[in-house]
Amino acid sequence: MPPPLLACPHLLRFEGDRPHLVGSECDVCGEVYFPAATSCTRCLSSRMKPRNLGRDGTLWSWTIQEFLPKPPYDSGETPETFRPYGVGYVEMASGIKVESRLTVADPTQLRIGMPLELTLVPYRVADDGRETHTFAFAPAAEGARHG
Ligand SMILES: [Zn+2]
Repeated sequence: MPPPLLACPHLLRFEGDRPHLVGSECDVCGEVYFPAATSCTRCLSSRMKPRNLGRDGTLWSWTIQEFLPKPPYDSGETPETFRPYGVGYVEMASGIKVESRLTVADPTQLRIGMPLELTLVPYRVADDGRETHTFAFAPAAEGARHG
């Protein structure tokens, strides 16, 4: 199966069919950034290298996006077709907190500290009819966590 079309290919790396988040790490002081930064705001070095942040995290904070976001959000939805979605800050193993869409939009199914895993969700249909995807975090499958 060809890899899915991505709205944000520079933020992801695939291991098999599993997406991982890719940020950057300062080669001098070890500070980690997501999305990747070209220089370090902590020590001002520009010696940055890619850093695989993995696919597992825990929910640190969240909200529900109840209305269609302003541009550059470009999902192609209209105020009529828009469906609310969850947005969270997800703490990765390295300690960095990543802002991400969540697959869950029901507040009763979200709790701080719950384990999450990275997945892909449909984002928009391109002009050529192909569906593009973006990353999102989903509740981790019970007992299926891995590093
Ligand atoms: Zn640094």
